[in-house]
Amino acid sequence: MTVGIIDGKAVAASLREKIAGAASNLRNVHGLTPGLAVVLVGDDPASHVYVRNKGIATKKAGMRSVEHRLPADVSEADIVALVRDLNGDDGVDGILVQMPLPDHINAHRVINEIDPEKDVDGLTEANAGKLMLGETGLVPCTPQGSIILIRTVEQKLSGLNAVVVGRSILVGKPLAMLLLAENCTVTLAHSRTKDLAHVCRSADILCAAVGRPEIIKGDFVKDGAIIIDVGINRVGDRLIGDVDFAAASERAGAITPVPGGVGPMTIACLLKNTVLAAARRRALKDPEI
Ligand code: NAP
Repeated sequence: MTVGIIDGKAVAASLREKIAGAASNLRNVHGLTPGLAVVLVGDDPASHVYVRNKGIATKKAGMRSVEHRLPADVSEADIVALVRDLNGDDGVDGILVQMPLPDHINAHRVINEIDPEKDVDGLTEANAGKLMLGETGLVPCTPQGSIILIRTVEQKLSGLNAVVVGRSILVGKPLAMLLLAENCTVTLAHSRTKDLAHVCRSADILCAAVGRPEIIKGDFVKDGAIIIDVGINRVGDRLIGDVDFAAASERAGAITPVPGGVGPMTIACLLKNTVLAAARRRALKDPEI
């Protein structure tokens, strides 16, 4: 079988072009430049790289990007005060608090301070609830990007068996909800799942969001399955996914590489959510993206 490599970089680039078009339309027609504010706490080097890349991508799409850096020993009250200021700032359409936060901060409490209309990460209780209820809200970026990638190789998802490995609030659970909304039969696997290999072999669509290098082996893969590898693991000087790419490629119908698969989609969907938030906050129609 010839495996199809799902080129997340190319799909994200084309999505970013459409987002830039939508942003330019909002500017020309409504005099509105969507703005994204990112709050970065502490000195985690990976977080600094992510935030810098988000800032560059936001500006490239013709939107405003503002960064707020706070020291690692900042109090929770000070972060909450900043988030409340950003909630009240009409020039800010999207607010993202970069994770992880230092241990003394209750991340859940901070995130829930974000105005749900500006919650471009889709992680507030309000947006998580809307996803659960099937209502329109802001959808977490990585799961949203994963669905777009699946759709590049398969349009008819209804009735397919989907297995999501990993049940985090950030990726696994929302991705399972999105697949359910597509009428897939969804299994959500996690660290207590018995016989993961057997569960995975039932998957027409297999999504891995675990954070363990190559935990998904080649013989976990059903012939022709679509594999979405969300994992990003640094091993030595290489980044590798949660799926053994070489072995899984022998059986899969289509597979995302790491890097160059889901990662680029996450930033593109963040930009998309910012444009959507800018339009929705002003009761404008969702831009076509
Ligand atoms: P997380 O919060 O640590 O969640 C990991 C999940 O994996 C948990 O639900 C855990 O189960 C499950 N798990 C752990 N060991 C397992 C095992 N042996 N068998 C089956 N399940 C197991 O991680 P996350 O934030 O979802 O991130 C997952 C991965 O995706 C990481 O590598 C992260 O870097 C990457 N990521 C990538 C992007 C991107 O843009 N591409 C975005 C976000 C995250 P329990 O719940 O039972 O503990």
